[in-house]
Amino acid sequence: MINKNIKEAIDNYKSCENTNCKCHEDVINHDLSPFKDGITKEQFDIAVTKGTKYQIIDRKVYRQKDCHFPSRCAGVEHYLVALAPKLPNMELVINTRDWPQINRAWGHQKVPVLSFSKTKDYYDIMYPAWSFWEGGPAISLYPTGIGRWDKHRLSISEAAEKWPWNEKKSQVFFRGSRTSEERDALILLSRSRPELVDAQYTKNQAWKSDADTLYAPPASEVSFEEHCKYKYLFNYRGVAASFRFKHLFLCKSLVFHVGNDWLEFFYPSLKPWVHYIPISPKANQEEIIKYIEYFQQNDSLATEIADRGFQQIWDNLTVKDVKCYWRKLLKNYAKLLKYEVKKDIDLIKV
Ligand code: UDP
Repeated sequence: MINKNIKEAIDNYKSCENTNCKCHEDVINHDLSPFKDGITKEQFDIAVTKGTKYQIIDRKVYRQKDCHFPSRCAGVEHYLVALAPKLPNMELVINTRDWPQINRAWGHQKVPVLSFSKTKDYYDIMYPAWSFWEGGPAISLYPTGIGRWDKHRLSISEAAEKWPWNEKKSQVFFRGSRTSEERDALILLSRSRPELVDAQYTKNQAWKSDADTLYAPPASEVSFEEHCKYKYLFNYRGVAASFRFKHLFLCKSLVFHVGNDWLEFFYPSLKPWVHYIPISPKANQEEIIKYIEYFQQNDSLATEIADRGFQQIWDNLTVKDVKCYWRKLLKNYAKLLKYEVKKDIDLIKV
């Protein structure tokens, strides 16, 4: 079955065009399509209550004074300021919370809010997360917050060179906090089969007692580079998509991605069985073991998928791609505004 899934996926796979961030273009078209008849001032005024207001006027960027998460706003502004000299006037609402805002199923009115992550149930328009530059969660290893994707691309891919496939441990590895209970099955499996899986919960800011790490003391945090020592790396959703996903591919290890609901803008460019192994969030410990053992026994298949996953991220999630995505998104968004944007004097220049 696994073999058949891989064969079918590879037979049907067409690689995307690797120029001008084309691999991600469909996501922009898809997310803006609910607004194809244009965005009115009334819609924008409702959206403003859901995030931080920005304007780009005469090639300069302005923001409402308060920003709920200053380092997240700074991570976003890094791109806006760099791109503003070539952008038309516009105003937009950027949500820097962990979760999206405009849910179809809950009957929310369709208004334009930019969010870093969402599921299909949301009208939110995905933008590249702040943490490509700065403002990701601060953990002991990254005390100022996870960011600088440009630097991580280099340092993690260098670590991958130090740990070529044949020298990696034939074991699953996961470190992270309990931001979603979906992670529990793997943590419990690690306790019963430690030779197969090394998966442990770390503390996050919400940690109060060992109950929050599933009744075990919190494990020490482990850098992305250290993940490269292992053949099999698991990714899970957290509150929304986890920033972990893109980093895991750079190790040239085989990525197991649990669940497919929570997205960031680049997820659709990665294909199940071609670049990673999809796992159901409902998979029990036995099913997880079945997958791991399959790839232990089919080592060359595992390394082929790992290499393709690495290459997809290496080639199509460059700093240039992130900037290109922002540029296309903002240009296309600006075309939809049905009214003339007037400078809001309450905003501050960034
Ligand atoms: N992280 C890490 N090493 C660790 C624990 C976490 O690099 O030992 C990173 C992890 O990859 C993610 C971020 O810190 O990008 C937050 O991880 P956590 O599991 O706490 O939350 P998530 O954002 O995945 O829900």
